[in-house]
Amino acid sequence: MPVLEHSKIVGALFATVPLEKAASLLRGSSVVYDGPSLFIIDSDNCVIAHSKVFRDERMYLGSSCSFFDFMSGLLTADENEYLRKNIGEIQETIFLHIKQNTIPGIFPLPRFSTQTDGNSSRFPPRTGCTHSEKNTFYKAAVLFIAIVLVVILFMFILYILLLKYRKIKKLSQTTIDKSGLYLFMLSPNGDAVKCDKNFIQLLGFPEKTDSFNFTQFMDKNQTLFPLSSIKKEDSFRLSLRMPNGERIYLLVQIIGDSERGLYQSFAVDITKDERIQEQVRNFAYTDITTGLPNKKSCTIKIGELNKKCMKESFRSSFIFIDINNSRKILEVFGDKLSGMMLHEAAFRLSNIAHAFGGTLFSLGNDNFVIIFDNYDEEDDVINISKKINNTFLTPFSVGDGTFDVTCRIGIVFCLEYMKQTPVSPNDVFRYGEFAVSCAKTSNGLFVFDMEKYISIANELDVEIDLLQSIKNNELELHYQPVYNFKTRAITGFEALLRWMSPKHGNVPPAVFIPIAEKSGFINYLGDFVIDNTMNFAEKVKDRNIKVAFNVSTIQFMQADFVNKLITKFREHRLAFNSITVEITESCLYGRVTEMKEKLELLRNAGILVSIDDFGTGYSSLSYLKDLPADYLKIDRSFIKHLETSEKQQAIISSIVAIAEALDIIVIAEGVETKEQLDIITSNTNCYHIQGFLVAKPMPETEVLDFMVNFDGLDDARSTETD
Ligand code: C2E
Ligand code: MG
Ligand code: MG
Repeated sequence: MPVLEHSKIVGALFATVPLEKAASLLRGSSVVYDGPSLFIIDSDNCVIAHSKVFRDERMYLGSSCSFFDFMSGLLTADENEYLRKNIGEIQETIFLHIKQNTIPGIFPLPRFSTQTDGNSSRFPPRTGCTHSEKNTFYKAAVLFIAIVLVVILFMFILYILLLKYRKIKKLSQTTIDKSGLYLFMLSPNGDAVKCDKNFIQLLGFPEKTDSFNFTQFMDKNQTLFPLSSIKKEDSFRLSLRMPNGERIYLLVQIIGDSERGLYQSFAVDITKDERIQEQVRNFAYTDITTGLPNKKSCTIKIGELNKKCMKESFRSSFIFIDINNSRKILEVFGDKLSGMMLHEAAFRLSNIAHAFGGTLFSLGNDNFVIIFDNYDEEDDVINISKKINNTFLTPFSVGDGTFDVTCRIGIVFCLEYMKQTPVSPNDVFRYGEFAVSCAKTSNGLFVFDMEKYISIANELDVEIDLLQSIKNNELELHYQPVYNFKTRAITGFEALLRWMSPKHGNVPPAVFIPIAEKSGFINYLGDFVIDNTMNFAEKVKDRNIKVAFNVSTIQFMQADFVNKLITKFREHRLAFNSITVEITESCLYGRVTEMKEKLELLRNAGILVSIDDFGTGYSSLSYLKDLPADYLKIDRSFIKHLETSEKQQAIISSIVAIAEALDIIVIAEGVETKEQLDIITSNTNCYHIQGFLVAKPMPETEVLDFMVNFDGLDDARSTETD
C-alpha cells in the first residue's frame, strides 16, 4: 500500500497479519510513528485503514481496491515491476518487525527517500510520466481542446447571429423605408427628435436636420400641442404647411413609453389619402352640373347661421330660384344643352350673388338659393330678386341657338334669427319650395307667408295620412237615429263617417271630407261608406228602418256613380226604400236637370233621396217641385235660434207645408233641447227629429242596444246634451 506524505507517495507498506492484530500492534507499538501516513491492506490486498485513523479508532475504509491495482495507478511500469519482484523481501522484513513488535514495515520507494534507508539505488531511474500524470495531461489536453472548440463554436454562433442581426436590421430598415414609416422621438410639446433621414427628406428640411417642432408648421386652429397626456398607442393626424408651401398630412403613432420625456413614434405620410378624401368631400359638397356648392353645403351654411343666431340677433334672407322651362329644355334639347343652360344660369346668378354679398348654392336640378347672412331692408332683398328676374330676360345662348329662360323666385325672410332662434335647414328648404310654388301665381315673385304656409301644410299633412286611413282601419261609420215624434218611433239612422287618426286625433268630417274631395280620395271614402252602410242596412232590415248615407257632390257627379250604387244595392238584396242617399243642397246648384235624371234613376231602383242641409245655400223651394226627393233635412243653423226667432219658425212652417204638399218628409237636424223640440213639433208641424236630444251618432255595436232601450222623448230628456 502507498505511503503518502502531503498527498505524495513516498513508499509502500506491506503487512500479512490479520487486521485485528495489526491494529493492536500499531497501538501497542513502542515506536511513535509520526511520519507519512500508513495504510493497511487486508489479505485480499484491499486498503482497510491508514495511520490517521489508527490513532483514534480503527476504521475500515471499505475500499475493495487491490493493492497492486491501486499501486499501478500511481507508479510507473518500472516501479510497479520493481515492487512485485521485491515483495518477498519486504514480507520478511515485515514479519521481523511483527515479531519484534515494532511497526509492520515500510517499504520506501527509492525516488522519494525522505525516510528511506538508502534503497533508492534499487529503483531504476525514472524515464517517463506516471499514468496519472499522463491521464492528467490527457485530461487537461482534452479539456483544453474542448474549451477551444467551445470558444470557436461560440464565436461561430456569435458571428452567425451577428450576420443575421445585420441582415434583419438591413431588411427591417428596408421594410421601414418601403413601408413609409418614419421613425422619430416625440415630446409632448411637439418636438420631433432623432428623426429618420427619410422623414427629414419628406418634410423638405436640410439633410443635416434631425429635429424640429411640429407646431411651427401647423395651422393656428390646430391646438394639438402641448399634449396634456401622451401614452403608448396614441395616434393623431397632423396637417402641416411646410416652408415650401406644400401641405403634408401625417398620421403620427406613439409606439414606445417615455424615455426622458420622449416617446418613440412613427409617422405615416397620408397626404395622398387626404387629398383623395378632400376630392371626395368636395365632390359630395359640389353640384356636378354647375360646380356650385350643393344642398349639403347649403345645409352646413344654415347650420352656421343657426350657431351665430344663438349669440346675436340678425336678419338673414334666402332667395330661392326655380328655373321655369328647364324640364322642357331637357326634353327637347337633351342633357348636354340643358346642362349648359343651367351652367349659364348659375353664372348669371353668381354674378348677382357676389355683387350683393350673398352666397349662391345649387339645390339640385334647376333650383338655386342665394343666402344673405344679414340684410338691412326687406326692400333691398326684393330689389335683388327683381334683378335676378331681369338677368333672365336676356336670352341664353347655348350651343348653336338661343333660349328664353324664365324663373320663379320665392323669398324667405328668416325672422327666427331676429328672435335668436335656430331654424332647421329642412324647414328653410320647405319654406323656399312653398314660396317658389306660390310665385307661380304671383308674377314670378313671392315672399314667404307663414300663416298661409301653415294652413296649406296642415292640409297636405292630413291629406297624406287620410290616404292611408282605409288601409290602416282608421275609418268607421257611426249612426245617428231619426225619431218620429208623432209615432214615437225611431224611423231611421244616418251613417256619419268618423276618422280616428293616431296622429291627428278624431278628425271631424267637416275637415277631412273637403280634403278628400280635393285630392279625389273622396271616391274611395264614398265606396267605403256605401259598402258599410249597406252591410249595416242588411243587419237591421227586419226593423223597418231606413239607413241614410251622405254623398259628396264630387262623388255624385262621377259618371258611373248612380249605376255603381244601384248595382251594390241590388247585390245586397236590400228592400225597396230601405236606403236613403243624402245629397247637399249645393249639389243641385246649376245642374238641376242633370240631377233630376240621376235621382230618378235611383228612385226607380228603390233608393230614397234626401236633400241635406237645406237652408245653407241655394235655399230655393222652387226646384223641389222638379226634383224627385223623399226627404228634406233642415240645417242645424235654422234650429239653433228657433227659440228666439219667430221668423225662423215661420220659415220652417212654410218649408214643412210646401214639402208636405210635394210628399216630401221634413227632418229637423240638430235638435238639442226640449224647447227646440216643443217649438218644432207644436209650431212648425215638423215631427221628424234628428239631434243630440234623441241621441248622438253611435258606433254600430251600440245601435241595437239603443233601439231596444229607447223609450221615446217624453221621459227624462229635457236639457242640452252636448
Ligand atoms: P250632415 O250630413 O248634415 O250630418 C249631420 C251633422 O250634424 C253630423 O255632424 C252630426 O253629428 C251633427 N249633429 C247631429 N245632431 C246634432 C246636434 O244636436 N248638435 C250638434 N252640434 N250637431 C249635431 P258630423 O258627423 O260632424 O258631419 C258633418 C258633415 O259631414 C255631415 O253633415 C255631412 O255633410 C258630412 N259627412 C259626414 N259623414 C259623411 C260621409 O260619410 N260622406 C260625406 N260625403 N259626407 C259626410
Ligand atoms: Mg247628412
Ligand atoms: Mg245636414
